[in-house]
Amino acid sequence: MERILKGRSGAWLLRAGSLFLLYLFLCILYSSHGASHPLIPPLLSSVGNPREVLLYQNEEKIDFRAFSHKGYTRLVVESGEYLPCSIFEDAGQLVVYFPLRVSPPWKKKTLDDGVVNQLTFYVGSSNSTLVISLGSYFKAYNTFHLEKPNRIVIDLYRQLPTTNPTIERINPSTAEQERTPPIPNPSPAIQTVVLDPGHGGDDVGAKGRTGLLEKEVVLDITRMLRQLLTSNLDVNVVLTRETDENLPLEQRTAKANNVKGDLFISIHTNASRKRGVKGAETFFMSYEPTDDESSQLAARENFPIVLGDPTLASDLQLTLWDMAQAEYLNESSQLAEIIQQELNLRLNIENRGIKQAPFAVLMGAAMPAVLIEVGFISNSSEERELRTESYRQKIAYSLFRSISNFIQLYERKTGNYPLQY
Ligand SMILES: [Zn+2]
Repeated sequence: MERILKGRSGAWLLRAGSLFLLYLFLCILYSSHGASHPLIPPLLSSVGNPREVLLYQNEEKIDFRAFSHKGYTRLVVESGEYLPCSIFEDAGQLVVYFPLRVSPPWKKKTLDDGVVNQLTFYVGSSNSTLVISLGSYFKAYNTFHLEKPNRIVIDLYRQLPTTNPTIERINPSTAEQERTPPIPNPSPAIQTVVLDPGHGGDDVGAKGRTGLLEKEVVLDITRMLRQLLTSNLDVNVVLTRETDENLPLEQRTAKANNVKGDLFISIHTNASRKRGVKGAETFFMSYEPTDDESSQLAARENFPIVLGDPTLASDLQLTLWDMAQAEYLNESSQLAEIIQQELNLRLNIENRGIKQAPFAVLMGAAMPAVLIEVGFISNSSEERELRTESYRQKIAYSLFRSISNFIQLYERKTGNYPLQY
C-alpha cells in the first residue's frame, strides 16, 4: 500500500515537473515574441487543453468600459491586481501590451465613434494585447493608472476638422485627399453644464437662525449662474430642478447623465451646531471622508435618499454609482480646486479647502462632478450675507469664473477650440 502510493506520487511529480518545464519554455517563447511582435496569436488554444490550469494560473480577469465623449473617447481597463502594461502607437493602431494573460469580457468590440473604430483583444498564454484601431479623428492619447479599484485609463482625444483654403488653391488634388469629411458635431468638449440646486420641496436643507432656507438660497444662486453661463459662454445649461420641488438625489444624477452633461455642479449651503463656523468648501467624491465633519455633512446631505427609497442606499447600488464617478476623479478634483480658489479670491471668506466625502448625488455622475457648500447658513453673519442679492450674485460670478477657467483648461487638454468670452 505504501509502495503503491510512493510510486503514484513519484509518477505525479515527474509529470508535474515536465509540465512545469513546458510552462517555463512557453513563457520564454511568448515573452521573447511578445516584446517584438505583440500581435502574434497564441500557439496553443486553451479550449479543452489539460495543461490549462498550469499554463494559465496567472490569468487576470479584467473588466472593460468605453465612453464616447464629444472631445475624447475614454477606455477603462479594470483589474483586481495592479495590471502592468506598455502602450505604443503603430500604423493607425494603439497597441496596449500586457505581460500576462488576461481574461477580457469580450474579444472584439466596435465603437465607430470617429476616434476609435474597433477594439480587439489577443490573448496569449503569458501575455495579451489590446489593439485599438484608430478612427480618422484620433489626435493624441494620454494614459494613467487609478487605484481602488485598479484601473488603466486611456483617453483618446478627438481632432476637429480644419480646412486650409491656401493649400487647396495650390494643390487641389492633395487638399482633396487630406480634407476630412465634416463631423456631425464640431463643438467644444464641454457643451452641457448641469447645475443642481440642492434639496427642494419638503426637503428644505439647512435652515438659518432667522429662518433662511438652503433650498431657496441655492435655487436663486443657480438661476443667476445659469444666466451668466448662457449669456457669456457657448454652453447649454440644464438645471436638475427649476422650482421648489421634491427631487430624489438619484434622479438628479440620472438627469445629468441623460442629457449627456459634461459637468455636474451641486450647490448647497452648509450648517454647523457651532455658531462660529463659517466659510466655503468644495467637495469631490470619495468613499473615505476627509475628516469627521465631512463625514457628518455627507450623511446629512445623503439623508433624503433614505427618505425617498431605502433600497437605493444599499451597498450594491452605491458601488454601481461609485463606478460612474470614479473615472472622473482627476477632473473633479481639478474643478474643485479651481472653484475653491475663485471662492477664496472673490468672496474673501474663510477658506475651508477642498475635501472629499461620499456624497450620493455625485456618485453616479458620469462626468466631472463637485458639490459646493457656498457658506454656513447657520452662521449669523453669513446668513445675513446670503440673504442679499448682491452676495448671491458674487457667489454666482465666482462659480461662473471657475467653470470658464475649467472649460479653458479642459479644451486645451482635449485639443478643441478655446472658448471666447
Ligand atoms: Zn445641502
